[in-house]
Amino acid sequence: MSECIFCKMVAGEIRPDVIYEDDDVLAFNDIHPQAPTHFLVIPKTHIATLNDLDEAQAPLVGKLFLTAKRIAADRGFAGPGYRTVLNCNAQAGQTVFHVHLHVLAGRLMGWPPG
Ligand code: AMP
Ligand code: ZN
Repeated sequence: MSECIFCKMVAGEIRPDVIYEDDDVLAFNDIHPQAPTHFLVIPKTHIATLNDLDEAQAPLVGKLFLTAKRIAADRGFAGPGYRTVLNCNAQAGQTVFHVHLHVLAGRLMGWPPG
């Protein structure tokens, strides 16, 4: 997956603004933030889209959310609230084809999303 920008981050070839990392996931600030807080949580393994997820990877996806939850608590926005978004394919606006959970916080969110 040498052409995947998020795999390059995992491999250390590109260094994003990392806020959390362990053996399974990497979390980093989005380069074009859409809220005062906007970071991405990605699995270290390459999964192109949600459509490509298999049953065995269910714990890994759970870990994306648990990572978001822990960072929300650590940074004090768990109570006020935050939004998680996972775009799948073109019509949803997915532009990087390596699964990533958006975490947005720090402002009032509109609904429905655009
Ligand atoms: P999506 O449109 O759901 O595929 O989201 C891709 C996200 O990745 C966008 O919010 C981009 O701003 C973000 N992004 C792309 N390249 C980088 C980068 N080098 N560092 C941090 N975030 C990035
Ligand atoms: Zn990748």
